[in-house]
Formats: sequence, structure tokens, C-alpha cells
Amino acid sequence: MTAIPKQGQKKLGLVIDLDTCVGCHACAVNCKEWNTSGHFAPLTDFDAYQEHPQGVWLNRVHSYEAGTGPDSRTVHFPRSCLHCEQPACVTVCPTGASYKRAEDGIVLVNTEICIGCKLCAWACPYGAREFDEDQGVMKKCTLCIDRIYNENIPEAERVPACVSTCPASARHFGDLGDPDSAVSQLVAERGGFDLMPELGYKPVNKYLPPRRRPKAPEHVEAAPEPTGNGVLRWIDRVLSR
Ligand code: SF4
Ligand code: SF4
Repeated sequence: MTAIPKQGQKKLGLVIDLDTCVGCHACAVNCKEWNTSGHFAPLTDFDAYQEHPQGVWLNRVHSYEAGTGPDSRTVHFPRSCLHCEQPACVTVCPTGASYKRAEDGIVLVNTEICIGCKLCAWACPYGAREFDEDQGVMKKCTLCIDRIYNENIPEAERVPACVSTCPASARHFGDLGDPDSAVSQLVAERGGFDLMPELGYKPVNKYLPPRRRPKAPEHVEAAPEPTGNGVLRWIDRVLSR
């Protein structure tokens, strides 16, 4: 069994905005490109472009219908490793392949010593582990550790691939151990929350809840026939409500 090191001050992680995520999957695809094939190469899955592709996705996006009637909406929920402070995926690992870094809190897998027993996948309540059938080892989000500390790429690009590509700016990266960081401030302002806190894993990643939408008007006046000033008067009436 593997011990969790004494956690330092720094806790790198993601803040994901469920209000602005549009479920486009750009984050998941860019994650896969960066982590399995580099830029602009084809996907490495088995039968990648056939009817039943199979492969490892370190970041997945699920879409749900929430609520009923006029208050209902579609919520898109991106899911990846939450880099928990108390990760049972680490403590169950019999070889030390799963480990948590003391210096920044990132949870990683050393694939050199992973024996593919899948105990960590059983221990993770968030379904964040992905078994690579091809290599026989466990994989997971690394927070793009090869980007965020990479001095060969411009400083502005030293963020996880998913964050760099999100067209809705729904993904934010930073130090959640620093209460003054931009991500911590965002969590405080928007009421960011932990996923399933009752389990005690203490995820570092946070989610921002969807904002309430303004109520749709119960009765919308039909547009008049497009003649004369009627349309302009109708637009004026609608806009001035
Ligand atoms: Fe481990 Fe799952 Fe937590 Fe990631 S989300 S640290 S895989 S328990
Ligand atoms: Fe949502 Fe951004 Fe991912 Fe698209 S790229 S699914 S908007 S988090």
C-alpha cells in the first residue's frame, strides 16, 4: 500500500464552470491529442474512426437534462481526475505506481511500475481512472505536467491542454492552496463546490454551479406582418419590457 506524503501549501487543480461549458468536447479531444499523440496527429484509439472506437480518454464530458418544464436546462459536466487530497486510489496501490506529489499535490501514475491490477480504478469514486488495454497500465489526468512546467513553450501556454483549448473559457487552472489566487477567488465568488464531499476524498478541483436563468416571458406577442413601421414598433415594445 502506498502512503500519501505530507501535503505542501501548493495545490494545483482545475476550476470548471458548469454555467458556461457548452459541451463541445474540445477539452477532451485536445487532452487526448496532447497526451497520446502530440499535435495534429490522428487519434490512437483502436478503430478510431469506425463505428465502435475504443481508447483512453483522460477527460470526458457528460450531458444531462436538469429540472423540468420551463426551468429545465442541459448541463454539461466535464469529468477528469480531481487530484484529491485524500486519494484512496493512491493508498490502495500495491506497488507505489500511484502517487501524490508533495510539492504541488498532483496525483500521477508511474507506468513503469504499474502492474495493471486496477485496484485504483475500484477505489476512485469519480471514475477518473482509465485502463490502457494496449499497454496494460492505468492512466489518468496528469494536469499536463509536461506543459505546465515546460520552459520550452511560451509562459502563457503553460496550462493544461484542456484549459488552453476551451472556447467558452469554462476551464481555469491554478493554485487552489493559495487563497489569493485567481482560481480561489473565483471559487469564493461563485460558490464553487466539491464533488461528493461526503466521501472525504477532498478533491482539489472545484466546480462552479450553473447560474439561474431569467424567467422566459409567459406570453410573447406575435410579430406583425412586415409592413410599414409596424415591425419597428413591435421591436420597440418587446425591448422596452
Ligand atoms: Fe484518485 Fe479518483 Fe481522486 Fe483522481 S479523482 S485523485 S483518480 S480518487
Ligand atoms: Fe465545456 Fe470548454 Fe470542454 Fe467545451 S472545451 S466541453 S466548453 S469545458
